[in-house]
Amino acid sequence: MRALVIEDEDGIAQLLKAGLESEYFVVDIAEDGEKGSFMARTNEYDIIILDNMLPKKNGALVCEEVRSTGKSTPIIMLSVQSEMHTKVELLNKGADDYLTKPFSFEELMARVRALLRRPVTFSPEILEVGDVVMDTKKHTIHKGKDELRLTKKEFMLLELLLKRKGAAVSRGTIIEHVWDMNVDPFSNTVESHILNIRKKISPKGTEAYIQTIPGIGYKIDA
Ligand code: CA
Repeated sequence: MRALVIEDEDGIAQLLKAGLESEYFVVDIAEDGEKGSFMARTNEYDIIILDNMLPKKNGALVCEEVRSTGKSTPIIMLSVQSEMHTKVELLNKGADDYLTKPFSFEELMARVRALLRRPVTFSPEILEVGDVVMDTKKHTIHKGKDELRLTKKEFMLLELLLKRKGAAVSRGTIIEHVWDMNVDPFSNTVESHILNIRKKISPKGTEAYIQTIPGIGYKIDA
């Protein structure tokens, strides 16, 4: 999952980034509304955390701009107590939820999870292919009785394929959802991660489960 944090207070932004990363998100940060709006409109994010009081463009305007491009990425807005009267306005601008500062990270994550569970992006917590079972909440993967050890990136990539089981997932989509903005799109990083995942989940000596779709990307299937 990939998150965008639009927040000008560096301390809060870094805290959110660290927290989200520990929950297996990749995180981009925008420190003003203009940059944030641009990033939200041009990249594919699974969730956007958007502060309301921002330099250059306020959160409500950013939200409006993102929605006007037809993007339905869930947006959680952050506002301070004195802006309470703007909550209705924020929801009217297309935000999905809001939190009043100061908030606890646990509460934020509970709301992130609730939004990601919504029908539009619905996916169960347990994902499976063949004898491989992933628990997306506990961040564990088992093959039969054995627990597999995957790196965070391998886990995220496998999660993405499992969520779209049976469908081809393009290399571009994988990069959008599993890597942050600093990835070199021409490197073979996706390929090498797929190779490592195959080694871990496939029955010995086979390439089962993850198929290469030439010219497109990858597909996972039993
Ligand atoms: Ca702010």
